Amino acid sequence: MNKKTAILLDRRYHNHQISRQSLENADRIRGLYLTLEEERYANSLQFIKPREASLSDITAVHSEMYLDQIRQHAASGDPYAYDKDTYLMEETFYTAQLAAGGCLELADLIMAGEADYGFGLIRPPGHHAEAGRGMGFCVLNNIAVTAEYLRKVYGLQRILIFDFDVHHCNGTQSVFYENSQVLVMSIHEERIFPFTGSRNEIGKEEGCGYTINLPVHAQFADEEYTYLTGKVLSSVVEQYLPQIILVSAGYDAHKEETISKTLLSTSWFASITSLLKILAKDACDNRLLFVLEGGYNPTSLQQAVLATIDELINPRMLRPGIMYSERAQRILWNHPLHTHWTL
Ligand SMILES: [Zn+2]
Repeated sequence: MNKKTAILLDRRYHNHQISRQSLENADRIRGLYLTLEEERYANSLQFIKPREASLSDITAVHSEMYLDQIRQHAASGDPYAYDKDTYLMEETFYTAQLAAGGCLELADLIMAGEADYGFGLIRPPGHHAEAGRGMGFCVLNNIAVTAEYLRKVYGLQRILIFDFDVHHCNGTQSVFYENSQVLVMSIHEERIFPFTGSRNEIGKEEGCGYTINLPVHAQFADEEYTYLTGKVLSSVVEQYLPQIILVSAGYDAHKEETISKTLLSTSWFASITSLLKILAKDACDNRLLFVLEGGYNPTSLQQAVLATIDELINPRMLRPGIMYSERAQRILWNHPLHTHWTL
């Protein structure tokens, strides 16, 4: 059997861990790993181990000064001295290097045609981490490091990052804000952490139009999300023609999550995967790479990640049906994305 889906998992991702309670902890992925190691997945998935991202891979995104700060705080003995959410400990930097490097390993596999789809089940997450600052549980911006690597090593000039984590990807957006070679599109709950990602943030200079934000009301559910992604993501992919689609896959918009009020069901995550598979087939020879971001209820996180993976290994290609949603359509009224893209 041709194993088209590569899954990155490694128990060294458990090593960034604190004894105090934190929403971002190793239990998020423990059960998921055990389930994926069951026999039913052995024949349908390629399991991949990470390498460490090199310093030059990392400094393509992050400043040397920030990396020094991580090391200094790790040695200081107070894990929360740097940021109230983002604990930094002795094991943190190496674990983050393995997280980013694991994504590079998946990217290599996809670029070599040895897998169509990849999913990095990594931690710590990355999309809030800016060039010079970690925040919101994020240390290194794994997906930004991956996009920069794909530009440098493979010469890609059109990379789409789609972020469905319930929080805005302030870090990823800031890295590529003036860049048209990486289009960053985010759908997220409005007026919550990190309080960025308004519809008027559209990119700057050469990157103008290549940042797309869809801040949505709390309590939007499958119907509204399917309508918005079906319309906007499909149109943008058709016009931008990405050479690869990278997905910041955060599962904290799930209705079982207490961190947000958004009400997605587990099956929405299968349905967005289905759409992404079709778009990747049409635009970029199936190249599609998921990177785990948030998701803090281990039960719903596991169910929704498995829904994604089950959809990736399913040979079926089925575009999800879109029902008209007045509430969702209102998000698009006078949205600045109309200046650059036709819906
Ligand atoms: Zn999040």
